[in-house]
Amino acid sequence: MTCIASIRPEVAAFTPYVPGLGADEVRNRFGLSQVIKLASNENPLGTSPLVQQVLRSRADTAFRYPAPGNPELTRAIAGHHGLNPARIVPGNGSDEIIDLLVRMLAVPGRHEALTFSPCFGIYSTQTALCGVTLRQTPLNPDFSFPWDSLLAMVNEQTTLVFVTTPDNPSGFCPPVGDLVRLAEALPPACLLVVDEAYMDFCDDEAAHSLLPRLDEFPNIAILRTFSKSRGLAGLRLGYGILPEIVAEYMRRVRLPFSVNALAEAAGVAALRDDVFYRETLRVVREGREQLAQGLRALGCTVYPSMANFLMFGLPASCPATMANVYTDLLARGVITRPLTSYNLPHLLRVSVGLPEENTFFLQVLGEVLAA
Ligand SMILES: *Cc1c(COP(=O)(O)O)cnc(C)c1O
Repeated sequence: MTCIASIRPEVAAFTPYVPGLGADEVRNRFGLSQVIKLASNENPLGTSPLVQQVLRSRADTAFRYPAPGNPELTRAIAGHHGLNPARIVPGNGSDEIIDLLVRMLAVPGRHEALTFSPCFGIYSTQTALCGVTLRQTPLNPDFSFPWDSLLAMVNEQTTLVFVTTPDNPSGFCPPVGDLVRLAEALPPACLLVVDEAYMDFCDDEAAHSLLPRLDEFPNIAILRTFSKSRGLAGLRLGYGILPEIVAEYMRRVRLPFSVNALAEAAGVAALRDDVFYRETLRVVREGREQLAQGLRALGCTVYPSMANFLMFGLPASCPATMANVYTDLLARGVITRPLTSYNLPHLLRVSVGLPEENTFFLQVLGEVLAA
């Protein structure tokens, strides 16, 4: 390939994020009429009716630029959590906040980021693109967090530590006391980024989220998203709850209109739709139990999850590989998430769906395992 442009080495060596397959793609590939997608931890109830109504009513405003800084949404998020709006920065998904944190807080070659391995793909992609070293320590064999190994890697170069809780892809969720101890032990120059994308699905948020204890620590960032519990994955909306000074710089450096006007209106409406939100949590918590029981009944190893997905392994007696099981499920119209990009090819992640989707998945998996 000849090209006159000079491509930065970080770009030339870049391994892109691997997203879950889409339903249309699978319908076409296998000529299926019915496909269920349990691959990307989206909301099983779809889009909130209130959000749909707001999007329709605002469709005629699409020609206008959004208000700079998304003030209405920022206020709504701050009000929702009872926080000062100065700490809130909305982003084009929390992915954008992760990207900005790396670019704002780590000088390539001089600073490093830390996290566990495997980790959410965006921590790896955005540090790599930025030329920032991401050092990782392996999770315990049961997918719990080895805090001491993480702390042992911290040095003068560490400016960012990423912890996902509940974790993706395992669903593991440590007690908040563990995070408090980590926050206390980290040096002041280091920002602890706690990615709480799935925290709403946790049985007992107060016992697991660092959010209520934010004020005890100067150097904590918490990430939340509208993609999962609020059902807005396609509109791209997340936010950082940040130390005020970090939030202030982030508002200065982010692209001026990365959160679009319809996403902003949808976000405000989503926070108001408490009925949809509560129903989401109920359906996910019950569905998680339904799936866990069904998987165990099939002899699978199920990892405890506080999120809206479950990670599982095949029965010891099963001769098939997980790669084959994944493809067989796909050919029968069930999309799950293979974990090869997480270096866990023997495990599969399934998102919690509607009760009938969970039942269909379990039935099809049973057929695949029996074949
Ligand atoms: C889904 C997810 C997010 C949210 O991403 P968005 O960009 O807000 O859609 C963040 N962190 C983790 C670990 C996730 O799984």
